[in-house]
Amino acid sequence: VIQIQDVYKSFLIGEKPSFWKRIVGGKDTRRTLEVLKGVDLDVLPGETVVLIGSSGSGKSTLLRCINKLEVIDSGKILVNDHLVGYRESGAGLVAESAKETARKRTDIGMVFQHFNLFMNKTALENVMAPLMHVKKLSRQQARALAEPALERVGLADRMENYPSRLSGGQKQRVAIARAMAMEPNVMLFDEPTSALDPELVGEVLAVIKNIAASGTTMVIVTHEMQFAREIGDRIVVMDGGQIVEQGPPEDVFGDPKHSRTRALLRRSG
Ligand code: ATP
Ligand code: MG
Repeated sequence: VIQIQDVYKSFLIGEKPSFWKRIVGGKDTRRTLEVLKGVDLDVLPGETVVLIGSSGSGKSTLLRCINKLEVIDSGKILVNDHLVGYRESGAGLVAESAKETARKRTDIGMVFQHFNLFMNKTALENVMAPLMHVKKLSRQQARALAEPALERVGLADRMENYPSRLSGGQKQRVAIARAMAMEPNVMLFDEPTSALDPELVGEVLAVIKNIAASGTTMVIVTHEMQFAREIGDRIVVMDGGQIVEQGPPEDVFGDPKHSRTRALLRRSG
């Protein structure tokens, strides 16, 4: 479903030189930070891939590139055989329009660490919003999809609550329902439980497990190693912008080959 081929991504760090400085030919003091350095990864239909790696290793950046929240410098990312962010033309690759990108993004659901809910909308309205505004469904049609999505994450009795009246775990479940209601082909999760109190982590992980069991293709970034072991069909270890090791959880956790993996597993106990 997802094909990532030799992807590089860097960021410019530092202050952009002012207009006047550029006019007089001042030096650009920004430096580039290479964050992804040749990442190759294929995710198969129905597969659950768990990305682990130390802080700053590029996990979030990789997810954001898949969802085209970031533009890659080189390489290719295909989702459902479509190039993300570019289209092929006679002359090579051409950046595609924002509209085209938005359309393709509906194939991909993403859940962030910090829920990103609309605070002035109820749980139900939060789930309905992208159905109406992105998928252009009517209110009734949107409601007909949003309600079962919320039921599925165990929030049948919380639909009329505003986010301020929901626990962190419930808010994250609304965010998951909102993404799932769009019926994406792929779900991306970026540390979905790391902003939650420990006692609320379990309910969110249970919902994610349930989605994985239904055969949705997923890529999950997490620091919850026990969860990674239970849910992952494959564990992918990133370090310094590269994939250093991958394999079934038994292998990666049971007999880690790379020193960085061993260090990572030691640290997380
Ligand atoms: P964590 O586990 O802490 O979430 P991560 O593996 O998700 O880490 P990324 O968020 O992908 O790491 O960041 C990788 C590197 O890229 C970091 O050094 C970060 O500071 C840098 N970076 C990320 N986004 C930007 C940006 N928009 N501009 C500049 N640098 C960035
Ligand atoms: Mg991150």
